Amino acid sequence: MMPPHCALCGKESELGDHRGFQLVTFADYRPLPEGITGHPDGLVWFCAVHVDEAKALSHLNSRDALGSLVPKTT
Ligand SMILES: [Zn+2]
Repeated sequence: MMPPHCALCGKESELGDHRGFQLVTFADYRPLPEGITGHPDGLVWFCAVHVDEAKALSHLNSRDALGSLVPKTT
């Protein structure tokens, strides 16, 4: 499992603090085989700013969803 790191804006959690970060499961999610450690396809971290937009596109494959999402420039 990857540490929290927003796939859209690149924001990282601080000192292992996962608050505000959520995993979004996309259409291409495939659980890892039993006994395999790593990060499964289609399971992506987002920060609090972007998680709602990501969830709205969770019916897409993660690659397509990320291509449709644009980082907010604020
Ligand atoms: Zn973000």
